Amino acid sequence: MKILVSDNIHKAGIEILETEAEVEVATGLSKEELIEKIKNKDALLVRSATKVTADVIEAAERLKVIGRAGVGVDNIDLEAATKHGIVVVNAPEASSITVAEHTMGLILSLARRIPFAHSSLKANKWEKKKFLGIEIRGKTLGVIGLGRIGSQVAKKAKAFEMEVIAYDPYVTEKHAKNLTVKIVSLDELLSKSDFITLHIPLTDKTKGLIGKKEIQKMKDGAYLINCARGGIVDEKALYEGLKSGKLAGAALDVFEKEPPIDNPLLTLDNIVVTPHLGASTQEAQIFASVVACREVLKVLRNEPPKYSVNMPAIPPEVLKEISSYLPLAENLGRFTVQLTKGRITDISITYCGELLNLEFTALTNSILKGILEPILTGGVNMFNAGILAKNRGIRITEGKREDSGDYRNMVILNVKTTEDETIVDGTLLGEKPRIIGIDGYEIDLAPKGEILIVLHEDKPGMIGKVASTLGDHKINIGSMQVGRKEVGGLQLMVLTVDHEVPPEVSDAICKIDGIKAVKTVRM
Ligand code: NAD
Repeated sequence: MKILVSDNIHKAGIEILETEAEVEVATGLSKEELIEKIKNKDALLVRSATKVTADVIEAAERLKVIGRAGVGVDNIDLEAATKHGIVVVNAPEASSITVAEHTMGLILSLARRIPFAHSSLKANKWEKKKFLGIEIRGKTLGVIGLGRIGSQVAKKAKAFEMEVIAYDPYVTEKHAKNLTVKIVSLDELLSKSDFITLHIPLTDKTKGLIGKKEIQKMKDGAYLINCARGGIVDEKALYEGLKSGKLAGAALDVFEKEPPIDNPLLTLDNIVVTPHLGASTQEAQIFASVVACREVLKVLRNEPPKYSVNMPAIPPEVLKEISSYLPLAENLGRFTVQLTKGRITDISITYCGELLNLEFTALTNSILKGILEPILTGGVNMFNAGILAKNRGIRITEGKREDSGDYRNMVILNVKTTEDETIVDGTLLGEKPRIIGIDGYEIDLAPKGEILIVLHEDKPGMIGKVASTLGDHKINIGSMQVGRKEVGGLQLMVLTVDHEVPPEVSDAICKIDGIKAVKTVRM
């Protein structure tokens, strides 16, 4: 067997490959050189530098597997790999411990003021009184995002005898219980924590999650740590929180713009910063390399890999048959999850009309991809979404029905959470996905752009009031429709708008007399 390693991967993994294959290490290749070298290889090992594009994959006559020594697979064309029956494997947990340890390092740096004391002593000062610290034992740590890294941080904080609470609407109670961590609301976490640490992905929903309002809700003298992604914290609000003394300190490994040249945060004397070092340890690099190389060898030996990104491969003939419905499925998932509140417990999908006779595993997985992608960090795709959902304790049921109403095909998606239940119907009209029902209200909506959904009493003047609130905030309405089940009951108003509807505008609409609920969806 012949394997090409085209990025700098730790030698520990390469030595494992060499026990079973002939390995060529060639980094910094041009696309043409890569295409030439890949022709007679059975496997390819990369980090993030090599771009494994469709034309590279097409040129690879014998390629069976691509290994990524790390988590993100954005540099690999997954669709092209799957089409050619090439398995892609990665090492998703490789840096979790490393990032968690960095987080603990930052918590201790803030509590004991180590970086400041270090600089002072290096400047020939002996300021023992100035650097009086605090113990972290007995303090409350609020973990936002209890995934791979957040869970590791929770474990380590417990060893330091901290009280650990967490906010993560998407993990099971069982997972939190195993970690002896109490799941709380975001508001409770903000108001009770002495230290708050972020371990969530950066998505439309989490962008600016920690802003002025959230900082105001924190305890006076709280500390904030961000080893996740820059945009999650509003840097201007953080600057004000630190400058005013509301927050005692913050530690950042990540920034909105990296490197953070001329970032005012760096001028503050109650902030600890590191240059995106969270995952940078020898062990994480070795771990990523060893795991990815072992996974590659498993595939070459025809054994099932543990961390496949695109398995099981769907037979090309099945994929061809269902491919036109995949955008409908993914859009339906993405749309519906934005209407829900709480932790998802059950997802039930009913395929109707001409969909009845199709093999719908890939459609279900695409729906799950749409649901999970805004929640999980990297690597959610239509091949692994089913496994990821089941790992999170979500029950999934599929059903079929002949009757598809006025449409040739229809998918009914029912998502139950710990707090509510949402039912959305979708159809493929020609080549275009449409949302045709929300909780029993008939609508006809292209799931695109910014959408505002308002449930209100069926009485005169409601539309005008909502429209003028949007107008007051300079938000232009693109289209508007209403649906109702009976006269004088409730009505569902669905608007497409030209700009994002910020929370303060939703809140203002919510306060209008007769409005029952307001939801925003971004597609
Ligand atoms: P993960 O997918 O395992 O966990 C993310 C968790 O966040 C999940 O449990 C999910 O349910 C939860 N979540 C999603 N949206 C949420 C929301 N709105 N509110 C609360 N919880 C929410 O990811 P991970 O591997 O633990 O990575 C966490 C973060 O760390 C990511 O942002 C990742 O990019 C970052 N990271 C940083 C470094 C670094 O060098 N500093 C290295 C690796 C990862």
